[in-house]
Amino acid sequence: MPRPIEAVVHSEALTHNLGRARELSGCARVWAVVKANAYGHGIERCFDAQRQIADGFACIDLNEAERLRALDWRGPILLLEGVFEPRDLELCSRLHLWHAIHCEQQIDWLAAHKVLWPQRVFLKLNSGMNRLGFTPLAFRAAWQRLSNLPQVDDISLMTHFADADGPSEASLNAQLAVFEAASGDLPGERSLANSAATLRHSKRSLAGGVDVAADWVRAGIMGYGGVPDYPEHDAAHWGLRPAMSLRAKVIGVQQLQAGDAVGYGSTFVAEGPMRIGIVACGYADGYPRHAPTGTPVLVEGRPGRTLGRVSMDMITVDLSEHPDAGFGAEVTLWGRSAVNGAELPIDAVARAAGTISYELMCALAPRVPVRVEP
Ligand SMILES: *Cc1c(COP(=O)(O)O)cnc(C)c1O
Repeated sequence: MPRPIEAVVHSEALTHNLGRARELSGCARVWAVVKANAYGHGIERCFDAQRQIADGFACIDLNEAERLRALDWRGPILLLEGVFEPRDLELCSRLHLWHAIHCEQQIDWLAAHKVLWPQRVFLKLNSGMNRLGFTPLAFRAAWQRLSNLPQVDDISLMTHFADADGPSEASLNAQLAVFEAASGDLPGERSLANSAATLRHSKRSLAGGVDVAADWVRAGIMGYGGVPDYPEHDAAHWGLRPAMSLRAKVIGVQQLQAGDAVGYGSTFVAEGPMRIGIVACGYADGYPRHAPTGTPVLVEGRPGRTLGRVSMDMITVDLSEHPDAGFGAEVTLWGRSAVNGAELPIDAVARAAGTISYELMCALAPRVPVRVEP
């Protein structure tokens, strides 16, 4: 018998959520961002659902690009960080990958590369986040260099926002202004928006300037039903549906008396008689170890809470309010209950554990069996 735990990928939600990106971004085309193995959902599992909407797939690992081609995806694929060493360019040629250019080394490699045919690149501007990209001062020279290379046939322009999810628009406006000043008169398609910018800002534009959705939006977390600006907004607010559910079962029941403790460190102590359930899910499954007592769960589709510390293979839930739930009861750790369709937003669980939905999705452990539902 396998352990009673499973993750479910909801295909209909993947398609619906990318459709939301399309609705919000006007004429822009939509990259489905599938880095980190489709945010932990599995590239192969998501592909059929995502391809119904996606104009292209954006990833980080070359291996992910290879897997998309193996699925017979013939459309655009963008390497968001570009290549990591010169020989990666051969794969770009062979698989027709578009790739980001964020530093001089990458241009040097391209200049020394024997092309099968000229490549399409996305020149990245560091507009203020100070992660990857050319500074505004170096941007034009980089563009000029690329445009002189026979290895390059098309130069698109990209940048990335640091604060598109935040309440203040000052930082986003500043980055937009930097982008506009550095690139306004250059030809080529543009890509700026991640999920947060697509959800919150895609309708906006600077006077006479580029609009936030531009030519391509890069939909990551929203495609999986996670919300970049939780708890200010939740998935329902943005019309997003959970693309992943994590469910396990109660494999043990204990009756506690006042003063009895639960789990390692005895961090939870019962104030009176209560019934608890031991659930077949722990941090080795990807459940966050830092989730404290009171982290929300659904027991047979009704709101409940965890008790005590998360261990490697188990967590404990309070069954006091769930008299009918016992051995074998379904516990939904996030996503949708199979019992009644009730939903527990992954953002709420992440919040309780001091993290973000991105991290929970990506941390789903390989030992958890995954089923794909239509
Ligand atoms: C991951 C990533 C995205 C997607 O971000 P979300 O917040 O998940 O939408 C967009 N652009 C780049 C460059 C990224 O690395």
